[in-house]
Amino acid sequence: MKAARIIKPKEPLIITDIQKPEPKGMQALIKVIASGVCHSDLHLWEGGYAGAAGSFIRVEDRGVKFPLTPGHEIAGIVEKVGEDVNGLRSGDRVLVYPWIGDGLCPACRVGSENICDNPRSLGVYQNGGYAEYLLVPSAKYLVKLDKLKEEEAASLACSGLTAYSAVKNANIKPSEALVIVGAGGLGLIGVQLARSITNSKIIVIDLDDKKLMEAKKLGADYIVNSKSEDPVKAVKELTNGLGADAVIDFVNASSTVSKDLEMLRKRGRLVPVGLFGGSIELPLVSIPLRAIKIIGSYTGRLDDLFDLVTLAERGVIKTIISKRFLLDEVNKALEELKEGKIVGRAIINP
Ligand SMILES: [Zn+2]
Ligand SMILES: [Zn+2]
Repeated sequence: MKAARIIKPKEPLIITDIQKPEPKGMQALIKVIASGVCHSDLHLWEGGYAGAAGSFIRVEDRGVKFPLTPGHEIAGIVEKVGEDVNGLRSGDRVLVYPWIGDGLCPACRVGSENICDNPRSLGVYQNGGYAEYLLVPSAKYLVKLDKLKEEEAASLACSGLTAYSAVKNANIKPSEALVIVGAGGLGLIGVQLARSITNSKIIVIDLDDKKLMEAKKLGADYIVNSKSEDPVKAVKELTNGLGADAVIDFVNASSTVSKDLEMLRKRGRLVPVGLFGGSIELPLVSIPLRAIKIIGSYTGRLDDLFDLVTLAERGVIKTIISKRFLLDEVNKALEELKEGKIVGRAIINP
């Protein structure tokens, strides 16, 4: 079978022929129909993230080993299952939960495999979906699809799940004001989810009027262009001078987080999600004096993905597919994402 693999960071992915795996026990082999191209694939390809003061956090120092087949937003058709699998058979259409843990650490024991001490995520620590077939370690990680097409479902496994988990972590009540920073793919799903599951007052901040108009269409009560107006002042004005009860920052850069902290009201929650990176200077006494909480949110749990697929099947949220690529065009797909040419989600159809 064909797979597109990162051999070394910063070098083009190589399409190679590797052995098609044979599922055993609880394993399942999936024929990949759609594999989303995510920003974190770019981080893998570049070999890391921006750290504090111009430093670089290498993915290899976080346990990633190359060569690697990336791709963690995977939907497809069950090709074959191991002898111990019940309730799933070849031909079933499924979305794969990729944030697999070791099953043994305190997080895994309570179902939060996404924040495992020894993560084994597909497409990050194990081979992922930039390939014709994918071996999933257990059929329990497969969510059956009903009306949703594979390519509509794929990005729910990462961007959708991340947005859903962030909205849950913000713990927002209907009477509260929620600020969403960044109206890209993640932010726009976040707006739809916040609208449907919290019914709070939603303020969206971005630099791009087009994205802001889209956010408004999808359920934002107010939009603020931080290029043309001071976002802190705008949020204070929209909240009777009090500030936001929660801020979900889908960018998470020095420039956005420093503003987030200023616009947060007393007892507010800041949920940093994005992986833009950088660092901020924070007056430490302000944390206890204002009783603010900073809650890091990383993807989501398997049960969250079941909820999310149900919401998508009901049409509560919609993912936007903008471009399709063949497996052979994987480098082009990554280049275009890097250059900001992709609005919504690019999908690889192996
Ligand atoms: Zn674990
Ligand atoms: Zn992702």
